[in-house]
Amino acid sequence: MRTAMLWDELSDNCVHCRLCAHRCVISDGKRGLCQMRENRGGTLYTLVSEQGIIQHVDPVEKKPLYHFYPGSTAYSIATSGCNFRCRWCQNWDISQVVSKKHLQVSESLSPTRAVVAARRAGCRSIAYTYTEPTVFFEYAYETARLAHETGLANIFVTNGYMTADALGAIEPYLDAANVDLKAFRDETYRKYVGGRLQPVLDTLKQMASLGIWLEVTTLVVPGINDDVTELRDAATFIADELGVDTPWHISRFSPAHRMTHVAPTPLATLAKARKIGLQAGLRYVYVGNLPGEENTYCHRCGRPLIRRDAYRVIQNDLQARGSCPDCGQPVAGLWTGAEEVSARVNHLRIAVPTAVGNTSSHSGYRREWVMFDLDQQTKQIIHKSMFLAPPSTSSALPQRLHELDTNVVLTAGLGQRTEQWLAQLGIEVVSGVPPESPEQLVSHYLDGNVPVSSRE
Ligand code: SF4
Repeated sequence: MRTAMLWDELSDNCVHCRLCAHRCVISDGKRGLCQMRENRGGTLYTLVSEQGIIQHVDPVEKKPLYHFYPGSTAYSIATSGCNFRCRWCQNWDISQVVSKKHLQVSESLSPTRAVVAARRAGCRSIAYTYTEPTVFFEYAYETARLAHETGLANIFVTNGYMTADALGAIEPYLDAANVDLKAFRDETYRKYVGGRLQPVLDTLKQMASLGIWLEVTTLVVPGINDDVTELRDAATFIADELGVDTPWHISRFSPAHRMTHVAPTPLATLAKARKIGLQAGLRYVYVGNLPGEENTYCHRCGRPLIRRDAYRVIQNDLQARGSCPDCGQPVAGLWTGAEEVSARVNHLRIAVPTAVGNTSSHSGYRREWVMFDLDQQTKQIIHKSMFLAPPSTSSALPQRLHELDTNVVLTAGLGQRTEQWLAQLGIEVVSGVPPESPEQLVSHYLDGNVPVSSRE
């Protein structure tokens, strides 16, 4: 636990937190709305200064950032907690945490260790993601400062509900951000999210004016923010206030958290939203998980420039410094060399559930997992990390593994429904493996001879 940044003393041992737009006034012994900052005796402390709960190597496209060193990897870290209460949160099991118990089981990952791990894994950047980085600001700030000293870039994946003070503090170290624009109606923010629209718009404008590379994401939720007028208002704001070169990512809602009764966004709605974005003048409007809609095209001649498939760059024809090879038109963004793209294409991620260092000797749900990142050509393990699975339901774990860009799962058995979900998401499942160490199993897999018992 360490003293928090960005707060003021008030009378009677109260404090005023200036980190996010909630601007909580917190009395002695109480916490702010995020539950991650506590007033003890008139001093505000952060409860998540080094309580990393996720460390992963992700393609930067997963953030999503499509114009920021495409094909590179981002070392992705998070602590528990959030300052929003989105009813459709996909990461609710780590974002909506309030108990001390959960904080205690979190792993400690110091900023120095995070930076060293990012460099060892060959990452181009560190992403503060999965939960809201504003809430673990001190941790992000210290890590970002160290990361810059070693040449790593920093990325915030954020709801944008930080104050101008917070953005001003992190700005010297912040290279890029993907900001969620969850709706373009204040009442939607108040009713479904637990915040307000205007502070998010202010952050977006401030980031654009500071020159932080900015991409915007809108999760289109049926019946909540899929109205044509609202989508048009959002697109017009991005084009007019942030610039037509700002990429807009339209994401598909899938049932989660307190909105499991709502169906996934129809593909026709996503296509309509993309059309609205283009009509508003935006040059780069992307729809995740729709073939062809993840690609980058030259806005002048229409030539395909970067082809992507499920957040992976499979072809990058941009010329040096990001221009179209046919017409020479520059494309806004920060661009990557070809070697980084080819390294990413050769990347393989294998997940193995564990029980005290070994795989489980019996089938079923396991909380702890080990994730291996391997170079497919050399068959070398280039990174190993731990992660905690979400609570046991047949869909939550497959979704988390999909978000983490997993290619293969080696397991004693996860249950038929869970394994079917994984297969539908394109994740290979090798089930019935014996209780060997995760490293041994990965080695067997690479050699093509995993010992598998027959299914019950
Ligand atoms: S970060 Fe936001 S929610 Fe948390 S205590 Fe500060 S003002 Fe309140």
